[in-house]
Parts: sequence; C-alpha cells; structure tokens
Amino acid sequence: MSDEATPKTPRLFGGLSLSFIPPAAGDGPAPATSASPANGAGDSVEARVAIVGSGPAGLTAAIYSARANLQPIVIGGVAGGGQLMITSEVENYPGFPDGVGGPELMGLFRKQAERFGARIVDAEVDRVDLSGRPFRLWAAGVEYRAQAVIVATGAEALWLGIESETRLRGRGVSACATCDGFFFRDKEIAVVGGGDSALEEALFLTRFASKVHLIHRRDAFRGSKIMQARAAAHPKVQLHLNRTVEEVLGEEHVEGVRLGRTDVPGEETLPIDGLFVAIGHRPNVAIFREWLESDEKGYLATEGVTTASSIEGVFIAGDVDDHRYRQAVTAAGEGCRAAIDVERWLEAQEANERTETAEAAAPTVR
Ligand SMILES: Cc1cc2nc3c(=O)[nH]c(=O)nc-3n(C[C@H](O)[C@H](O)[C@H](O)COP(=O)(O)OP(=O)(O)OC[C@H]3O[C@@H](n4cnc5c(N)ncnc54)[C@H](O)[C@@H]3O)c2cc1C
Repeated sequence: MSDEATPKTPRLFGGLSLSFIPPAAGDGPAPATSASPANGAGDSVEARVAIVGSGPAGLTAAIYSARANLQPIVIGGVAGGGQLMITSEVENYPGFPDGVGGPELMGLFRKQAERFGARIVDAEVDRVDLSGRPFRLWAAGVEYRAQAVIVATGAEALWLGIESETRLRGRGVSACATCDGFFFRDKEIAVVGGGDSALEEALFLTRFASKVHLIHRRDAFRGSKIMQARAAAHPKVQLHLNRTVEEVLGEEHVEGVRLGRTDVPGEETLPIDGLFVAIGHRPNVAIFREWLESDEKGYLATEGVTTASSIEGVFIAGDVDDHRYRQAVTAAGEGCRAAIDVERWLEAQEANERTETAEAAAPTVR
C-alpha cells in the first residue's frame, strides 16, 4: 500500500482478461455426473481435488496440484483473489523487484493455475459434508464431490467499521504493519488496539515512523505485561488510553484522527499520516466449524508438520490456519505444501486400493 497511491477499488484479477466461470453443471475437470444432489438442484461435479479459496494459498495449491495431474477444481469465492485484491502495492513478494499491484499479482497467480488446467469457479461454498469420501461441497446450487479437499479460505482483518476508515483504506489506513510499515518512513502514525498484536505492530512500526501513537479504548492494555512494558518504555511510542477513533480525517489520504474519550467528556484531534488498525483477524471457518478442529484462537488446526486437518483427506493452507505470519508468500508456501500432501495422500490411498483389489482377486491357497 502507498498512502500516495491511487486508491484501489477491488478489481477482478487486475484487469487481466481472465475468465469468470459461473458454476454450472458439467463444470470440473472430470466428466460431470448428474447424480442426485442433496440440494435438489440436480447438478453435480466430480473432482479428485477441490480447493476452497482463491487467494495466494488456494491458487498456489492449484498450480502444484494441476502440475501433478490432479486436475483440481478451485471454488474460489465470489470475491476471488483474496486479501491482496484490496491492496495497491505489494513490495515484498519475491520476484517483483519494482513491486506489483495486489490485483495484478493475483491475476498472474490465476493465469498460471489455469495454464496447467486448474478450473476456477467464482462461487462461495456455503455447505460441506466431510463425513466420508467423496467429500461433498455445495456452491451456488451445485454439488462438488472430491476425493481430497484443500481449505484455503483465508482470514479477514477486523476493522473499526467507520465510513472514513473504509474510504481511506490504502490511502494511509492499513491493517498490516509488516506489509505497509515501510511506506511510513519518518512519518507520524497511530495504531489502534489493545492486545499483543497492537503492541507488536506499534513496536515494529517504530523502525520506520518518527512517532507511533497507540490508541486503546480501555484504561489498560490487554496484551502481555512484557509487551506493555516494552511499548511504554519506547521513546517513539506515546500511549493514549480511554480513547476511541471516531473519524479518520483527510480527503485524499490520512491527515489525522478525531478521538473520543471514554473516561471523561471531550474530543481531541491527532495529526498523523497513517492509521494501523490492529483489533484482530477473523479466520473464514464458518462452514468448516462443525467438521474440523480449530485452535484456541479459532483458526483451523493442522497435524504436526503437515497441512493435514483432523479429517483424513482434508488439508489446510494459508491464513485460515496461520495467525502468526499472515503474508502472501507464507500462504503461497502453505498452498504448495498442501498440494504435495494431497498428492502423497492420494497416491497412498490409490496404492492401498490397488493392493486390496489384487488381494481380493487372488485365489485362496489352502
Ligand atoms: C490490505 C492488506 C494488505 C496486504 N499487503 C500484503 C503485502 O504487501 N504483502 C504480503 O505478503 N501480504 C500482504 N497482506 C496479507 C496477505 O494478503 C495474506 O496473508 C494472504 O492473502 C493470505 O492468503 P490466503 O490465500 O491464505 O487467504 P486470502 O487471501 O484471505 O484468500 C482467501 C480466499 O478464500 C475465499 N473464500 C473464503 N470463504 C470462502 C468460501 N466459503 N467459499 C469459497 N471461497 C471462500 C475468499 O473469497 C478469498 O478469495 C495484506 C493483507 C491486507 C488485508
């Protein structure tokens, strides 16, 4: 993001002429069947691998599984491309020394996945049944059946929900210090939030900013004592407790914030160049909640060092299980890992099935 950059209205895959494929009967890599789906719509699509989500994790999983000849189908959401579709400039994705627009980068991911035969459907999965194989997923009235599933539904940053914040996103309002801190060298900025993430982001941003105002609505931070002590002791950090952000000021870019008080009546204005909202993230797990195990923060849980979920044959990649790194390159890396895990798991399943078939066919020796 750049606070000087042109505001980014989310564009579908960076204006590249990439196809929008409405879900329909017959969609999918394998011959479509007209089984009688439980939703009564009458359409059903078979695939070896179904990938849910078309952010960096989902599309990287699609590239790898398509190149492994697994003929994946990506059910990518109505707002395909994921979180990078709402950011203007990505400067830390390897391979782009001059930076790349978020939508343009995701357009390239998609193009690469489609080049190897991945089918991408721009629809939202609204229900799943992971009780047995084939796994069943429903999106826009179509049933998809797959031998393996990769969940790459990502996460959403939580925002304050005020109009001025939305209007100035990408023009000085951000939810990612790692991504955008660099744009605020020698600028005065603010972080809003009261947990460890807010304290961490504030401390991280002191590397660039001339001053970091840390705004929290309560009279004490929720974060750990050690992080609070570090923030309080940092010469560039100024704490503002009992304050709420009422409005982000500025027309073309952030020029300040209007703060309300929660302890006494009154308001104040803080001139700043950037506002980082650090009030949390929400993983997109609703449809999987009853099926897959999650961790104490509500993110989907993986087994050991693999991307395997608590259900055999279902794998997880990207921000939907990662509340630590939350970067495009780490999500892409997880997509790669999930595709390799799927490939090996399917191979083992198929080898077992071949052995069982051979044993069943062999004459019994007495
Ligand atoms: C404003 C902003 C700027 C950022 N800048 C950078 C940056 O400069 N560099 C960087 O490395 N990272 C950046 N990030 C972080 C980066 O975007 C994420 O870490 C990354 O996109 C995570 O990828 P993902 O594939 O796991 O999930 P996401 O990108 O969140 O993609 C998830 C996808 O799943 C889809 N989906 C969700 N539910 C369903 C469903 N039920 N059915 C079908 N599809 C579904 C969504 O529509 C979405 O397409 C930024 C994030 C934001 C918000």
